[in-house]
Amino acid sequence: MRAAIYPGSFDPVTNGHLDVVQRAAKLFDRVVVAVAKNDSKQPLFTLEERLALVREATAHLPNVQAGTFDGLLVEYVAAQNAQVIVRGLRAVSDFEFEFQLALMNRKLDENIETIFMMPKDTYTFLSSRMVKEIARLGGDVGAFVPAHVQTALIRKLKPRRNRTSG
Ligand code: ADP
Repeated sequence: MRAAIYPGSFDPVTNGHLDVVQRAAKLFDRVVVAVAKNDSKQPLFTLEERLALVREATAHLPNVQAGTFDGLLVEYVAAQNAQVIVRGLRAVSDFEFEFQLALMNRKLDENIETIFMMPKDTYTFLSSRMVKEIARLGGDVGAFVPAHVQTALIRKLKPRRNRTSG
């Protein structure tokens, strides 16, 4: 039974994340999308909201589950009886951070391997940060996130738009 953990903030989950999840789901018996608490990043969506959005987005994939973690990723991976960490690589700009993270995680637990997956080329420019920025400015993010995520973004950002526009 080969299991992989795909960790991230998923604030919110995008079609780029889902592209990586679908690729990983073909390679592993079980994939767990692990939503990090990450308070220091001051996420737009709460941990529970991010988890619910991931759950809905991956409900059609039978070997994909979602969970949350707070603390050391390698401990979560071991607790889930997984052997692999999956991360997405979009561009060279992702590389340095991901390289450091992978080597640090290997130092912490040498039994865990990190593998990198490249999304479909149309998603290489896509990030949660960009999606939030476009949605905040009232732009259409329908091509970048599933419909339920778009709805959640509109609902979450509406009061802010009203507040700033007086
Ligand atoms: P983190 O805060 O850990 O970077 P993210 O939710 O931003 O969490 O991303 C989780 C993982 O998904 C990271 O490995 C990131 O590089 C990858 N990722 C994010 N967006 C995309 C995308 N559009 N295509 C492929 N991988 C992506």
